Amino acid sequence: MSLENIAKHDASRWLELADQARAQVETRLFIDGDWTDAAEGGRFETIDPSNGEVVAAMAEGTEKDVDRAVAAARKAFYSGCWSRMAPRDRMATLYRFAELVEQNAEELAVLETLDMGKPISDVIGVDLPLVSETIRFMAECIDKVDGAVTNTASDAMHFILREPLGVVGAITPWNYPMLMAAWKFAPALAAGNTVVLKPAEQSPMTSTRLAELFTEAGGPAGVFNVVNGMGEVAGRALALHHDVAKITFTGSTEVGKLMLQYAGQSNMKHVGLECGGKSPQIFMADLPDMNAAIEAAYCGIYENMGEVCNAGSRLLVERPIYDEFVERFTAEGQFAYQPGQPLDPGTSMGPLVTKADQRRVLGMIDAGRSEGARLVFGGDAPEELEPGAFVNPTLFADVNNDMTIARQEIFGPVACMIPFDGVDEAIHIANDTIYGLAASLWTRDIDKAMHMVKAVESGIVWVNTFDAGDYTQPFGGYKQSGNARDKCIDSYKAYTQTKSAWIQLSTP
Ligand code: NAD
Repeated sequence: MSLENIAKHDASRWLELADQARAQVETRLFIDGDWTDAAEGGRFETIDPSNGEVVAAMAEGTEKDVDRAVAAARKAFYSGCWSRMAPRDRMATLYRFAELVEQNAEELAVLETLDMGKPISDVIGVDLPLVSETIRFMAECIDKVDGAVTNTASDAMHFILREPLGVVGAITPWNYPMLMAAWKFAPALAAGNTVVLKPAEQSPMTSTRLAELFTEAGGPAGVFNVVNGMGEVAGRALALHHDVAKITFTGSTEVGKLMLQYAGQSNMKHVGLECGGKSPQIFMADLPDMNAAIEAAYCGIYENMGEVCNAGSRLLVERPIYDEFVERFTAEGQFAYQPGQPLDPGTSMGPLVTKADQRRVLGMIDAGRSEGARLVFGGDAPEELEPGAFVNPTLFADVNNDMTIARQEIFGPVACMIPFDGVDEAIHIANDTIYGLAASLWTRDIDKAMHMVKAVESGIVWVNTFDAGDYTQPFGGYKQSGNARDKCIDSYKAYTQTKSAWIQLSTP
């Protein structure tokens, strides 16, 4: 069924589909083209955060399963069944894979929402279309990204081959489970590597199904493997593995740093990191469109419950428009996103991913209060939705950039509004963070905008918009937001290595 038709389902249809999904969900690991139990027989529960109920007991992979998956991936890589497949055939397989994702969107969407609480309308409207788009974009790179022949003197020929790396280990977070995985496996597979994916333990259900769909599309066994399990066990074993050529990671800065250690302790594997953020949206008094700015401000922090790496969590507002901004954000933003049951297509805000995350975010809100920020609205959990892990949209005004809520990644629906005076102070506050994932600037003055684009230390800068872009756009951070770029052609290249062949020619 097409995404358009699925988007017409009402809440009762989604509840029916959720019952079916719970009854039928495959809980095993996917290794070497087949379903398999975890070697040590362990299981862990995945919980629906909207009501605290167990959805499924998933196979819990350990080091033995990682070893099995890496061995299968290594065998598949060296067999050449994928890495040496004709480019057009590899493209065709990935196109079929993208089609199968769309054809199975109903099942994938309901599993994603049950797993991590994301509103079903977001999975259908955002995550799933972007997963298939990612696969197609990376497939298109296969016969478009070339090696090179360089200019040499007449006694030599030099060409540069672009080759896959080998087995790629992907470790992914729970906030966009399928999409963050696709940002890894799609370029890795397109470039001819084989993959072992370790999804977040909070959201394990969709990744194994994606790997199965790849196989249904004609992807050879062993090319795409998924080992669910705990980060400190299965994730660690994958990142320390000597037969893994690259670890591609999306998650917290804290765990990202561990990836660099694991690489150093093992085989000096390549490490690509996409980590946390504390992104500023800077609203200058001369911004061109107050309506658009207010909407970008609240959407930028409340979308996906604020569980977004590039969430515009620090709202820097120039003092002449500060009071108006707080007032209008309160009037419009307070009600634009309201917590509700995520399987209802009318719901714009689901629960946080776990009860522990709810406690952590409420703890950050307490820190904001006790450090003197002004709580304008929210700041609590909606009682009527207990025992779900919900938090009401929250706004703190009069925040100082030294406060805990301005320095630490909250990863919840908590906006921090910070007043400032002039461009220099805005840039100082924007850059006064360990992170540098994204930023946006709002001004009608082109000179000011260009100056600020250059001065802001972040991998992405939007001007008079937020979170806009397409697949040509590199997505990744400066500083402790990471060292990799997803989405763009450079992302595809990051799953290849160059080989220089210098050929000495004798004079004929
Ligand atoms: P996390 O770091 O806790 O976990 C990420 C992954 O790492 C999970 O699969 C987890 O099991 C694994 N892991 C945890 N400990 C490990 C260990 N010791 N060894 C190996 N693997 C381990 O992050 P999370 O809570 O799942 O996700 C939220 C974080 O992800 C936020 O910081 C967010 O900003 C970040 N994120 C960044 C981007 C980006 O593109 N920059 C995108 C999405 C999310």
